[in-house]
Amino acid sequence: LLDALTDQAAVAIERIQLVADVDRAKLAAEADRLRSALLTSISHDLKTPLAAIMGAAGTLREFAPALPEPDRADLLSTVLDESERLNRFIANLLDMTKIESGAMEPNYAFHYVGDIVGSALHRARKIIGEHKTDIDIPADLPMLRLDPVLFEQVLFNLLDNAAKYAPSGSTIRLQGWLDNGFVTLQIMDEGPGIPPADLERVFDTFYRVRKGDQVRAGTGLGLSICRGFIEAMGGTISAANRTDHSGAVFTIRMPVPTELPTVDDPNGEDQ
Ligand code: ADP
Repeated sequence: LLDALTDQAAVAIERIQLVADVDRAKLAAEADRLRSALLTSISHDLKTPLAAIMGAAGTLREFAPALPEPDRADLLSTVLDESERLNRFIANLLDMTKIESGAMEPNYAFHYVGDIVGSALHRARKIIGEHKTDIDIPADLPMLRLDPVLFEQVLFNLLDNAAKYAPSGSTIRLQGWLDNGFVTLQIMDEGPGIPPADLERVFDTFYRVRKGDQVRAGTGLGLSICRGFIEAMGGTISAANRTDHSGAVFTIRMPVPTELPTVDDPNGEDQ
């Protein structure tokens, strides 16, 4: 009996190993596919602005003396804008690498969320352009313990998307409130919204919903960075569609710290 059992066990182990081998091969193939998709996407995102820079710089070198001033200024703006786009993309890639390697170390301090909303709006003012803003953040919300640089970046990315995907002249609304030990912050726009099947996937690295989105300056990195940063600070972020109007709504929830800053521990390092 023992021999028979041993034989059966050996057969079973062999089968398990076979299945494991097949699974491992499948996983390796999927990893290869993802890696090459990632490289294609990164190369595309680097090459598009570079091509624009090279084109504008080449035209300038060849025709600058003969070109009227507005055209020269336009070409120079292209060089600067596209360099800025490249710079942002590379900064995003570096942020993403930090998040994925777990090397994200927030520099905590206590801040009022309204102040950070103010500085994000200021930084995004050019991008917001013709959009209207409607801000409803009560001044008496409790302070949050967060990294102001990371938090501002999250708000900036969300404002950037709202301005990018919603029509010019529409309203971007930011509202905040306190509930059950959390400060909730919502940013909503009047754009097309996000198809329900994509609401979770928009946070994936390099995921973009619409083919047409490829023509807009974007990398598919903004929202994955938002989630990485918010989760590193102990909060959550989710996407939904508005019910009162067309448009997307992003909701951030941050826990209210249980202890406030003290003279000995102004940044809440002991928490
Ligand atoms: P991107 O650089 O493409 O904007 P994100 O990670 O910020 O990358 O967003 C991922 C995708 O989610 C976008 O390509 C777009 O399809 C969709 N998306 C993000 N924000 C909005 C929004 N406010 N309204 C509609 N679609 C959005």
